[in-house]
Amino acid sequence: RFADVDVAPPIEVFALIAQYNEDTFPNKVNLSVGAYRTEEGKPWVLPVVRTVEAQMATDPTLNHEYLPVAGLPDFRAAAVKLLLGEDNPALVENRVEGIQALGGTGALRLAADFLKIVKKCDNVIMSSPTWENHRMIFKNCGFGNIKQHRYWNAETKGLDLDGMLEDIKAMPDESVVLLHACAHNPTGVDPTQEQWKKIADVCEQKKAYVLMDIAYQGFTSGDIEKDSWAVRYFVNRGFELFASQSFSKNFGLYNERIGNLCIVTKDTESKMRVKSQIEIIVRTTWSNPPNYGARIVASVLNNPALYSEWKEHIKTMSDRIRLMRDQLFQKLKMLGTPGKWDHIIHQQGMFSYTGLNPTQVEHLVKKYHIYLLKSGRINMCGLTTSNMDYVANAIHDAVTS
Ligand code: PMP
Repeated sequence: RFADVDVAPPIEVFALIAQYNEDTFPNKVNLSVGAYRTEEGKPWVLPVVRTVEAQMATDPTLNHEYLPVAGLPDFRAAAVKLLLGEDNPALVENRVEGIQALGGTGALRLAADFLKIVKKCDNVIMSSPTWENHRMIFKNCGFGNIKQHRYWNAETKGLDLDGMLEDIKAMPDESVVLLHACAHNPTGVDPTQEQWKKIADVCEQKKAYVLMDIAYQGFTSGDIEKDSWAVRYFVNRGFELFASQSFSKNFGLYNERIGNLCIVTKDTESKMRVKSQIEIIVRTTWSNPPNYGARIVASVLNNPALYSEWKEHIKTMSDRIRLMRDQLFQKLKMLGTPGKWDHIIHQQGMFSYTGLNPTQVEHLVKKYHIYLLKSGRINMCGLTTSNMDYVANAIHDAVTS
């Protein structure tokens, strides 16, 4: 019965982490993991999260009853406010809803399920490259036509905007267009505001169902508003859209699986209709979401003192990432490593698409025990001031040998 089941291909990032964990080489470096690391190479529980956890541990009013299907109301309200800004007209006009989800992944899944089951969409387009899970989510939700648009220009190591617009234009009308709102994963290349306007024009012409994936709000630039600019721009232009929010990175709550699907519609009535359908999808998928992460995020976002403390933390994280970008760039320049490396400092967010080819990547893994994805993507927080020289010298060797 099950003997004929094909073994699924390994998930590259988790396979690499397993390989890294087994490696006994003392100077090994993990540049593949999609999580923040401190200057000591350790995970970071945000102090503000610790504070809230301590309060929760002794709060006699908390219990383990089911949350509503749509999630914790305080959390959902705070999440959409964080994304759109308190005074956003769409919020004031009561045409925004939040549905708590299992991480950003869960939010994407809810949106894709809704678009397939309720709106009968079959066409979706996303960037090439994109986060590897995007394709799989839409495939497993039954989308028949999954396309990728040009995005990364290998020559300029920047955005191929013309290619992107052309490819979106070539899609049937009313296709789903999946966009990374900030800190594009894996390239770290984000459109400028002028470029976003052109992307919005094309989405409008094509009557696209826009789904914005925002997994790094605040974490990218250290500034909440800057990182959600694209989403706010689309909303202010009158788009009805979905945005999948993740609190894995900006709260360091990776394993609590806390995310939110933000729904923006043209009026309250449509919002209620969409919400009711998504509640059915939640009901048949996980039925009721977990409380812990939602409670932490809600407690921080709804308390002005804790909120400003959190904003300091996201600044700490994004500053450290930027420092690592700068140091790696300076080291490669100093070594005279062939090629132009300034894309490392211009890219945004946790990842850098280095431009290293698969042979060079293999060289780094095999000879230096430096673990990174085959695409050449590295997590900047895997770098520390103590392993920087080692990594830069290894990259130099990989490029020149
Ligand atoms: N979207 C993108 C682009 C991501 O990089 C990630 C995390 N790697 C996610 C969504 C989802 O994150 P999570 O489900 O862990 O919240």
